[in-house]
Amino acid sequence: MRIIESVAEMQQAVDGWRCEGKTIGLVPTMGYLHDGHLELLRAVRARVDVLVISIFVNPTQFGPAEDFERYPRDLDRDIRMATETGVDIAFVPRVKEIYPDGYQTFVTVTEVSAPLCGRSRPLFFRGVATVVAKLFIIVKPHIAVFGEKDFQQLVTIRRMVQDLNMDVEIIGHPTVRERDGLAMSSRNAYLTPEQRQKAVRLNRSLKEARTLVQGGEKSGELILNKVREVLAEGDDVRIDYTQLCDPTTLSEVREIAGPTLLALAVHVGAARLIDNSMLNPSM
Ligand code: AMP
Repeated sequence: MRIIESVAEMQQAVDGWRCEGKTIGLVPTMGYLHDGHLELLRAVRARVDVLVISIFVNPTQFGPAEDFERYPRDLDRDIRMATETGVDIAFVPRVKEIYPDGYQTFVTVTEVSAPLCGRSRPLFFRGVATVVAKLFIIVKPHIAVFGEKDFQQLVTIRRMVQDLNMDVEIIGHPTVRERDGLAMSSRNAYLTPEQRQKAVRLNRSLKEARTLVQGGEKSGELILNKVREVLAEGDDVRIDYTQLCDPTTLSEVREIAGPTLLALAVHVGAARLIDNSMLNPSM
């Protein structure tokens, strides 16, 4: 696996592959890799000639009081894992390489980035859309893969690609979970063993909601009450949001009439965890 740190070197390499008619796949990450990231890499490995992972903790998607400084990092381990997964290129730029002095250009996807995480993290999706747009310009992938765990991020990226006529196919990959159902996340590293136990409630609440909907329940209020009951706020557990929404527009849904996204964000100790599930009413 080749490690590339500079934008110029990355663009030069990509131009060469494109001239040779090779296809390029990109998996953007913030590193501290886990099996969820590796599943994304495996999903695209067989579909492209050149597989690129980007590892970049993107400062513009963190608010001033958020965890940019203490976000977990272990580049040596990431490089080992990516190599073992058959990655060809790790693009690992420094912050100044992506945001040189005087940087002032941002991509804003106005509507789908406003609800859910957009409420408590107002600049988050602007940072995500900007860095992903830059990665697409630098790496010029034919295919890029994003996890459904970050469902609003996936919807935002799809919208940006469509609106800006970006010539890249976006693939969504199902959420990869630990054996007990907790969605894998680099931020799970913040959890103490007791908090780790409590974090399982996120997936459990999604399961309860699916069971209700399969049983014919249509009332959003009733479903969300159940979800909040399972999440059980208290020491170490604080709900940011629990919401039902249309999976394409992310606008709020009050009655289940078709496939509906249940999305939640919960602070467990020092970690802010998100998870989601599609609710499909029985016909
Ligand atoms: P991150 O490094 O957290 O920014 O994630 C990089 C990519 O991996 C994003 O597209 C995430 O949605 C995806 N991802 C992270 N965790 C998971 C997971 N548990 N299952 C599926 N995809 C994931």
